[in-house]
Amino acid sequence: MTESTAGGDTGPGYLIRGARVVGAEPTDLLISDGVVVETGRRLDARGARVVDADGLVALPGLVDLHTHLREPGREDAETVESGSRAAALGGYTAVCAMANTSPVADTAGVVEQVWRLGREAGLVDVQPIGAVTVGLAGEHLAELGAMAESAARVRIFSDDGHCVADPRLMRRALEYVKAFDGVIAQHAEEPRLTEGAQMHEGEVSTRLGLTGWPAVAEEAIIARDVLLAEHVGSRLHVCHLSTAGSVEVLRHAKARGVRVTAEVTPHHLLLTDERAASYDPVFKVNPPLRTGADVTALREALVEGIIDIVATDHAPHALEDKECEWGYARPGMLGLETALSVLLAVLGERWELIAERMSRTPARIAGLAEHGRNPAPGLPANLTLVDPAARRTIEPGELASRSRNTPYAGLTLPGRIVATFLRGEPTVLDGKAVR
Ligand SMILES: [Zn+2]
Repeated sequence: MTESTAGGDTGPGYLIRGARVVGAEPTDLLISDGVVVETGRRLDARGARVVDADGLVALPGLVDLHTHLREPGREDAETVESGSRAAALGGYTAVCAMANTSPVADTAGVVEQVWRLGREAGLVDVQPIGAVTVGLAGEHLAELGAMAESAARVRIFSDDGHCVADPRLMRRALEYVKAFDGVIAQHAEEPRLTEGAQMHEGEVSTRLGLTGWPAVAEEAIIARDVLLAEHVGSRLHVCHLSTAGSVEVLRHAKARGVRVTAEVTPHHLLLTDERAASYDPVFKVNPPLRTGADVTALREALVEGIIDIVATDHAPHALEDKECEWGYARPGMLGLETALSVLLAVLGERWELIAERMSRTPARIAGLAEHGRNPAPGLPANLTLVDPAARRTIEPGELASRSRNTPYAGLTLPGRIVATFLRGEPTVLDGKAVR
């Protein structure tokens, strides 16, 4: 890609030349004052800076419903700014920041702090997720209403990292958010079934002698929660769904008309529990990597729409929390800077499907009206340009995240993010962060 100035540095906006919007025929996109003002062939640049997008695909800016930014509390692993930069480099224009920070995002004060830090960084829209229970302790409901009414306007609540295991509390949370059409995003893990668990329970865990995390611990909670959501008439979102059995529970619930959506992570679409045999803690994650049969079922469910979206569960960890024995390592993997490439590896160039699962539907679930729409005249210019022909080998040291725990180190993956625009301003150009 080349960038040239046609008519001075202060020209109005950008002219993107020859981008294939979601894989359609090439078109030009003229961007000014934060919005797409015109599309068509051979548009007059009118002094705008020209971005040559020959051969590139334009997608609506990606939206991640599940990001751990670690600030406040673990700024050694990630900050709102470094995570925002990683997101922009991954093609994202909006991320939802999980609540398991320190302090926990369980008050209006903390969610507003995260929201403000996101605005100051200005690289993606950072939408805080509020905790369901005080301190993620699973005992008392947090101030859901105060967080919803705060400047951050929280709509998604989650104790992610922990399951809201108490069914009475889960019911009350679902009832509470119904008033403002909020969503409870559940980390589905029956804690009594996963005590001491180190990896997926199955043949590989038996062979390695590691305590297993059985699929039923996830499936039982999802089954309970879809029934609760149906009973209350409220919205449930299932975080990082990981088993074939969970897909069947979800299929049943959707057929009944339950208001439930679900996400799958890139790593659960690509990697299996065989990776644990290396004892490399970079492959330790919660929920754990599952079997090849689960991976196949998850891919099929994503294509079919039983699973609604891809979410990264980007979980940066400092070196000392990952470069240690498997048993002591914290679970979690980086995801923002590699998600689209993994999806291209898994799905191929199915742009319409990718736009739906990685941008439009997550934006709709989160209520982010400015995101998740194909670039068109009058709409906010939130978009990313992808080079589908490029291949890149993942080098942990080159990532913008403060952490290095990517499970794809050394792997060559298709696709490269060339540019990302947030409200008409580039956050990434020529594959590099602008700020
Ligand atoms: Zn989780």
